[in-house]
Amino acid sequence: MHPDVEKVLLSTAELKNKVTELGQILSRDYAGKNLLAVGILKGAMVFMADLIRNISVDVQIDFMAVSSYGASSKSTGVVRIMKDLEQNIEGRHVLIVEDIVDTGLTLNYLLEILKAREPASVRVCTLLDKPSRREVDVSVNYNGFSIPDEFVVGYGLDYNEKYRNLPEIYVLKKEVYQK
Ligand code: 5GP
Ligand code: MG
Ligand code: MG
Repeated sequence: MHPDVEKVLLSTAELKNKVTELGQILSRDYAGKNLLAVGILKGAMVFMADLIRNISVDVQIDFMAVSSYGASSKSTGVVRIMKDLEQNIEGRHVLIVEDIVDTGLTLNYLLEILKAREPASVRVCTLLDKPSRREVDVSVNYNGFSIPDEFVVGYGLDYNEKYRNLPEIYVLKKEVYQK
């Protein structure tokens, strides 16, 4: 285990089983439809790569990169689009793929932006959810795991751009982000 992590929260096997299950549910729900999976960079890239390989319906992929406005580390709910989609989503079935929903502010804003582009549908699939931290009522259609309010890294999730490459989901040691 990496010396900066306190414990494994979700193991490789747990992640693999959940991603397989989500892929099966999505394949069933989107049967006969053409799906556009939109990964939110950078955190969702590892989850997205595993998820799409478990989806059996036709799926196209695209990505968006967003960042919270302002220097504050606290989410304000206003996000800046750093990278937008490459295609028009009008009439498409869009699935937003997220790493984690915390306050929900980022996702709420993203949903507003995408809905204004008149897709046939927009749903949200997140690997992790911290329901105790929610500040806005945002609908998550597919959720891998609800987790307690602890800061997690690995499997794409970072702290200061580190730990994205670690294979499992870990709780980061408090002294790493409190110093
Ligand atoms: P929200 O707008 O829902 O508060 O922000 C969600 C974003 O905050 C996530 O996409 C992620 O980038 C970041 N975030 C929230 N909780 C965690 C966490 O426990 N670990 C990591 N690495 N990022 C988190
Ligand atoms: Mg994210
Ligand atoms: Mg981050």
